[in-house]
Amino acid sequence: MRPLAIPVEVALADLPRSAGSPLFERLRASVDRVNRRTPLPHEAARWHTHTLGGVERRFAQPITFTPYASVKPCSARCSFCSENLRKADGGTPASRLRPAPDYFDGLSRALQALRGVPLSWSLSGLETSDDADWMLRLLQVLAASESHGPLVEDRVLYTNGAGFAAPQGEVLRRALQTFGLSWLELSRHHHDGATNQTIMRFRPEVAVGDQAVFERTARQLADAVPLRLVCILQRGGVAQPQDVVAYLSWAGQCGAGTVVFREFSRLDDGYRDNATARYLRAERVSMDALLAACLDDREVSRDWTLESLTEGYYFWNLRLRTASGLAVVFESADYGAMHERHATGDVYKLVYFADGRLCAGWEPGHDVLLDTRIEQAQTHA
Ligand code: SF4
Repeated sequence: MRPLAIPVEVALADLPRSAGSPLFERLRASVDRVNRRTPLPHEAARWHTHTLGGVERRFAQPITFTPYASVKPCSARCSFCSENLRKADGGTPASRLRPAPDYFDGLSRALQALRGVPLSWSLSGLETSDDADWMLRLLQVLAASESHGPLVEDRVLYTNGAGFAAPQGEVLRRALQTFGLSWLELSRHHHDGATNQTIMRFRPEVAVGDQAVFERTARQLADAVPLRLVCILQRGGVAQPQDVVAYLSWAGQCGAGTVVFREFSRLDDGYRDNATARYLRAERVSMDALLAACLDDREVSRDWTLESLTEGYYFWNLRLRTASGLAVVFESADYGAMHERHATGDVYKLVYFADGRLCAGWEPGHDVLLDTRIEQAQTHA
């Protein structure tokens, strides 16, 4: 392993310690500086003030906007899917809302209301590509808004790849290029097809569940846009250093430039004890322990170059590079830290739901910033 080379950005004393990870502390102790994506309350230059729905608010910089995809149930049925977690005090979850016929009119109004706000598109929710027509319209509406709406920095799509292996796959790939996608995060949680299927449980008719179809689709995507493969660590999946080695080798063959290994998000006590929460508890693989084991095993990490350490508002990650040039990210997230930030009243996240409401978090009806249905009714009154 080569020495740490961390970009100079901010003094260590300024870092929030929400991650609370002993490994983060160990790595932090090895370096002088790390990246911090979260602004401190007094860092005026990293807050954008904007009036939304008649209320002046502070928007953290950087910030992402998600038009939550929920046209239909997802083509996969991952047991760890966070869209199936339920808050104890929650109402209708985002995954159960279906867009009304005037959905895109409301989205356009929400984007107009965000005129001048610097943000990045983060396209996620359920599976955006499962309805190709909806996805194409979404890309059109977002692209059109860029001339009179928010100031867009990055454009990122999170996908399981299903729509790209379906009949309109090529149309979707070309649309992403026209859209100017910054990169695509493609989920695949094991390098062996059968093992992956036990994890992701694609519905029988979904072609991308097949390993050869997936690998071909990934290479086609990699030819079109920068590709990141995302692997969620779990028992029965990628759990040991040798699994990491095998996954990285396979990911390179699929055309990925980056691989992201993520731990299940850590939950606070605000969630119901449903099947998903129990699965997360039973099948969790600690990212800290796996990364530490990789770093301590010279056979695994001898040729790795550690590049940067980043702390976000509810996650932290280590970025490194292998001898073959593949970028690798180990990442861990904490929903408790996320909820603490959201409760401050400052805006750290923007999500537009199928019910026409723009919220500062992932729960429809909570932290509502703008209700485009009400705005529309007032316009016509
Ligand atoms: S692919 Fe994503 S949205 Fe679909 S079930 Fe898996 S984790 Fe959930």
